[in-house]
Amino acid sequence: MERKEAQTEINALRLQLDKWAQAYYTQDAPEVEDNVYDQKYRRLVELEGEFPELVTPDSITQRVGGQIDSDFTKVAHAIPMLSMGDVFSKEELAEFDQRIQKLVGHPVAYNVELKIDGLSLSLEYEEGKLVRASTRGNGTVGEDVTANAKYISDIPQILPQPLTTEVRGECYMGKEAFAKLNAERDESGLATFANPRNAAAGSLRQLDAKVTKKRQLSTFIYTWVNPPENIASQHQAISEMGKLGFHINETGQRLENLDQVYDYIDEYTKKRDSLPYGIDGIVLKVDDLSLQQELGNTVKVPRWEIAYKFPPEEQETIVREIEWTV
Ligand code: NAD
Repeated sequence: MERKEAQTEINALRLQLDKWAQAYYTQDAPEVEDNVYDQKYRRLVELEGEFPELVTPDSITQRVGGQIDSDFTKVAHAIPMLSMGDVFSKEELAEFDQRIQKLVGHPVAYNVELKIDGLSLSLEYEEGKLVRASTRGNGTVGEDVTANAKYISDIPQILPQPLTTEVRGECYMGKEAFAKLNAERDESGLATFANPRNAAAGSLRQLDAKVTKKRQLSTFIYTWVNPPENIASQHQAISEMGKLGFHINETGQRLENLDQVYDYIDEYTKKRDSLPYGIDGIVLKVDDLSLQQELGNTVKVPRWEIAYKFPPEEQETIVREIEWTV
């Protein structure tokens, strides 16, 4: 392909992906299925790989996709809330593992977790008291949803210790709550939410926190941004956060090799439908926190973690959410 031809296709892809990302992240109302978005995104990555001189910092491949709704108070993230690299096959997962081994010089253990289908949430505590909750936004600046987070029952407002700390996790809507909400909306003649992820995002990102109160949101906390020094691994961090009263997902496992990871993937591919919450993949995280530090981040994603995405579920008809305030 000629450079000029590539530039034309890259421009068109960026325009299209930005438009879809805007609908997805800001309006919480996707215009296309995730796999359609993912395919175009991959094509852009491929073209930018072939023509690295055409990569620009404003490309969606070089920044966290979300934007901030200007009506919300903004919150600067002291440590950016990044996106995550993804793979779609076990072969690509093996390539990721090879890459890690090459970088650190030896095999590593992974903490393997379910990829919860919701939206990222940061919770900041001062002397044990919840003082701020925020969304990921564009990664460096998020939206202040502190008032909304007060209505999510599994978020501790006060910790059992006077810690000044930040944790992050996923805010989600369970399948039952999602079905109930959509049934109610349908009955009232309102547009239904396309999926639990959009319902969670549309319910948390509400300027009127009373709307959030009426929706049944939950969290799974999986990142301790500044853990105490005695915590050496992701697995341990999750378990200790559980002891502090955070809602953690108990299915995470520290696994020593890829065969065990593949078994985990097979197990949860089968169990996926019977879980009470939505998942769209499995996340592999280098378990050792000092190795995570060593591996660091790219401009967009941590190098020490990757998402294995499940193949798309049966196509659903996307019904766009029109009225957000009810
Ligand atoms: P992502 O949502 O695929 O992955 C990163 C996120 O995973 C994190 O921010 C975190 O919130 C979440 N996560 C869930 N469980 C986790 C766990 N156990 N550990 C760590 N993180 C966990 O990445 P993204 O950059 O937010 O979005 C890209 C994806 O969003 C695309 O792959 C696409 O499928 C979707 N998207 C769809 C559209 C659309 O129009 N349909 C538009 C934009 C983006």
